[in-house]
Amino acid sequence: MSETQSNKPQQPVVGRFAPSPTGRMHLGNIFTALLSWLSARQSGGKWILRIEDLDPQRSKPDYARQIEDDLLWLGLDWDEGGLDDRGLNGPYRQSRRGEIYSDYLERLNRTGLTYPCTCTRADIMATQAPHQSDGRIIYQGTCRPDGFPDGNAAPLPDRPYTTRLYVPDETITFTDRIFGSQSSNLAHDCGDFVIRRADGAWAYQLAVVVDDALMGVTEVVRGCDLLLSTAQQLYLYRLLGLEAPRYVHLPLLCNSAGQRLSKRDSSLSMEELRRHHSPEETVGRIAWLAGLTETERPSTPTELLGLLSWDTLPRSQQIRLQ
Ligand code: GLU
Repeated sequence: MSETQSNKPQQPVVGRFAPSPTGRMHLGNIFTALLSWLSARQSGGKWILRIEDLDPQRSKPDYARQIEDDLLWLGLDWDEGGLDDRGLNGPYRQSRRGEIYSDYLERLNRTGLTYPCTCTRADIMATQAPHQSDGRIIYQGTCRPDGFPDGNAAPLPDRPYTTRLYVPDETITFTDRIFGSQSSNLAHDCGDFVIRRADGAWAYQLAVVVDDALMGVTEVVRGCDLLLSTAQQLYLYRLLGLEAPRYVHLPLLCNSAGQRLSKRDSSLSMEELRRHHSPEETVGRIAWLAGLTETERPSTPTELLGLLSWDTLPRSQQIRLQ
């Protein structure tokens, strides 16, 4: 029997939805939102809305307002967070959490594992091995001082620099609720990674770990494109002495050409979905895609409570839409 089918009370889940307000949401985003909401609600837990507006160029408050409006249209309400900063663990907009991230950067600096890096993107691209065809960029440690991390601390450059975190040659293994046992080697699969950019912007990896930990999140539900980031995040949890959540990575929704939905797939954007469908039709479609219902039928999120079992979710990396 799966967790949710048993009558045993579950531990209340503190879940969260953490959209980047860089455009209108699409069916893939709300697939994640609905499943995370159901998991939290059916366990009697709570659901947090955190606005991941770290990228000052691409994030817009209007998109954040639109995200809130779209979630409420679907019937997905949150207990904490959002633009009005409801709750005790705010602010819930990452753009307002700089002081908190500074404090955690200091803690990392004290481990002696951070160093300044002045490489440009072009410098880094020039060091990439040709076989890295999956598009991942692995930093080769160009600015890492000799003997680091056991040698002397690196002197601070007199021009803007990125702060990187040294990673050991270590394999991190964790169990994902959908994809099972996962392993990544920090040195080979990630490389020393950025904690703070040269322009002062905070890196996603640091912000997401600090925020999930300080907000008491116990379950992270997100797309499986972020599976590869999880090892870096678990490494940060360990260095910072914070407790990691459990991870549920979801298959990505793909268009009929097999490409992952993006904010450019306008036919499945919230704008089009709202123009042509009711909230119940939209929610019902997601529930069916996730294997919660056997047929596609209109539903409210509340009517689906009790039906979510991670066991019924497709185990593939992709769910192809017709
Ligand atoms: N802000 C990220 C995104 O919109 C999600 C990060 C996460 O869930 O960890 O893709």
